[in-house]
Amino acid sequence: MKRLAVLGHPVSHSRSPAMHNAALAELGLGGEWSYEAIDVRPDEFEARVRSMAGGDCVGANLTIPHKEAALALADELSETAREIGAVNTLSFVDGSVRADNTDAAGFLASLEGQVGGKRALILGAGGAARAVVWALLREGAELSVWNRTELRSRNLCDDLGGTPVAAPDIRDYELIVNTTSVGLGGEDPFAELPLETDRFGPGQTVVDMVYGEEPTLLLAAAEAAGARTVDGIEILVRQGARSFELWTGLEAPLETMRAAARLAI
Ligand code: NAP
Repeated sequence: MKRLAVLGHPVSHSRSPAMHNAALAELGLGGEWSYEAIDVRPDEFEARVRSMAGGDCVGANLTIPHKEAALALADELSETAREIGAVNTLSFVDGSVRADNTDAAGFLASLEGQVGGKRALILGAGGAARAVVWALLREGAELSVWNRTELRSRNLCDDLGGTPVAAPDIRDYELIVNTTSVGLGGEDPFAELPLETDRFGPGQTVVDMVYGEEPTLLLAAAEAAGARTVDGIEILVRQGARSFELWTGLEAPLETMRAAARLAI
């Protein structure tokens, strides 16, 4: 059996097992490969990864809180993961640990369009924001970064690029990406973030990394105003597809992964 997993703490809410097992079944690999969610506490993380690398595991996805810890234990670190400062995909080859980041490429793929030269506003300055900022800067977008804690957005921009902003007007941006966790616990994005419902409009693309409720309050308002929207499940599917391709060497069945991730709601 070739084993795959997502490691997190907590992890029971993850849609990755449903999504990857559906993809494996679609390609006729269900009897040979499997994907499971494993709850791993931070103090157990390194030992667990080492034992997976020495066993029958082919790879793993990482989610909160392990994405940064994996930087230190990788035997081989991709340039993307090093520059972003976070790992979401591990591959185990002959007992060694290769660490990669598919969040950035997955995010760009979910946009399905040119972002070079576009004015983009990133809300948030945590781990998800780092991958988004890194990806958009590489594509030549013009970035502003807002965060509740200003020091964190300043540090992110010093590190990767972009300009911190304190009071953005969303009418100035063609692309708006919410990378904060606002909305996850039912918070009102229009109370917590510098957004006003009547300032969205056609010609804008609004992305919400948060998923759960479908659509989120943010995306429902953006869509009602005529903006194009991309939700967090689509981003999850696109990063998952890239991880799947790294492990199996096969083209990921996107439609199957999308259907499985959405039905798991
Ligand atoms: P993180 O590193 O903990 O960062 C959290 C961010 O949210 C920070 O910028 C924080 O601001 C901000 N925030 C939290 N509560 C806030 C509030 N009430 N008002 C304003 N800002 C608030 O988390 P992360 O790893 O970046 O993840 C962020 C979100 O993206 C999560 O919901 C996660 O599930 C989602 N995500 C989705 C995908 C996907 O595939 N769809 C992938 C990765 C992450 P401060 O700095 O001021 O605390």
